[in-house]
Amino acid sequence: MTGQVMADIDPTTRDSMTAMKRGLRGRCPSCGRGRMFRAFLKVADECPACGEPLHHHRADDAPSYFVILIVGHLVVPLVFMVETEYAPPYWVHFSLWLPLTLGLAIGLLQPIKGAIVAWQWAHFMHGFGGRDSGEIDAPLASSGRDTSP
Ligand SMILES: [Zn+2]
Repeated sequence: MTGQVMADIDPTTRDSMTAMKRGLRGRCPSCGRGRMFRAFLKVADECPACGEPLHHHRADDAPSYFVILIVGHLVVPLVFMVETEYAPPYWVHFSLWLPLTLGLAIGLLQPIKGAIVAWQWAHFMHGFGGRDSGEIDAPLASSGRDTSP
């Protein structure tokens, strides 16, 4: 990691909102330039732009939980509203809600996972340089570059 990049990263505070906005766009929470994902839901081991290690994330099934929560709260009221107002045949329900549910779920998974990984990064969780664990310098030490004189 270069001195310029190190100067841009405050090792004691990280802005959660900025990081999560970057994560929502699939960008590195640290620099906002590099891609966070190397595949649809595979987080890159490190940022290709600044080298920030991203493999520490433990998003696990939190993204799917939040996607189900959000999509459910959008689609279920719509289903009830359409049914009570129009009472369409079942094939209309099927052709409306299945594509909408699948589209929303697939469309939201990566942005939400990006935001969760960024939130973990901003809160120094799971090896992202935890304050309590004394691992603040861990991202620099694990960058693969020898910083010793
Ligand atoms: Zn980066």
